[in-house]
Amino acid sequence: MAANSDAYQNIRKELAVTNTALIAVSKTKPVEDILELYHLGQRDFGENYVQELAEKAAVLPNDIRWHFIGHLQSNKVKYIAPFVHLIHGVDSFKLLQEINKQAAKQSRLIECLLQVYIAKEETKFGLDAEELASLLKELSSANLNYVKICGLMGMASFSDKLDIVRNEFKYLKGLFDKFDQPQTGNYNFQTLSMGMSSDYKIAIEEGSTMVRIGSLIFGER
Ligand SMILES: *Cc1c(COP(=O)(O)O)cnc(C)c1O
Repeated sequence: MAANSDAYQNIRKELAVTNTALIAVSKTKPVEDILELYHLGQRDFGENYVQELAEKAAVLPNDIRWHFIGHLQSNKVKYIAPFVHLIHGVDSFKLLQEINKQAAKQSRLIECLLQVYIAKEETKFGLDAEELASLLKELSSANLNYVKICGLMGMASFSDKLDIVRNEFKYLKGLFDKFDQPQTGNYNFQTLSMGMSSDYKIAIEEGSTMVRIGSLIFGER
């Protein structure tokens, strides 16, 4: 299998209009496919399994920015802490503390997004609005100097009812705007990571700044 470079180029052009960042989601795809996009200029790639990410990062160019977009378990943070660029799916204070600890060991600052649960599907992860508020509050009195919360991430329902998907994105954007008023300066919302192959156009209309696209550019998994 090879990446679909025409689709990739078209999406890049489309995203340039709104200045939306593109994460090429390469999970399950071979390193050859990643290199193909790399040679077209793509530098941000997303993976959602720790081991797969670590294996790929070890053999691919150093200037790739790796995004961890899956559900991260605390005991696996250490494997990606040395190199990960942005962790999208932080959904507990405990996980944030562990990321901070591992980042400190590496003497690096790790950027994180908090994942908010916006879909009507039990299988998805994330914080609800109340949990988000209390996590941010907890953060304000904690000394986590090696993590930086720079925004929110969410996954809409897997549905062809586009009004449902749109409303979920609207809701997330609402939270993003609401909480982007740090009292203490230890978080700063700049990134709103929402939108995948099936719904990225809607996500952009609703204020996404970063989309995570896999199957449209790498083919079905
Ligand atoms: C797999 C995945 C994507 C990309 O999905 P596509 O439908 O292939 O674009 C985006 N975000 C997350 C969190 C994923 O796990």
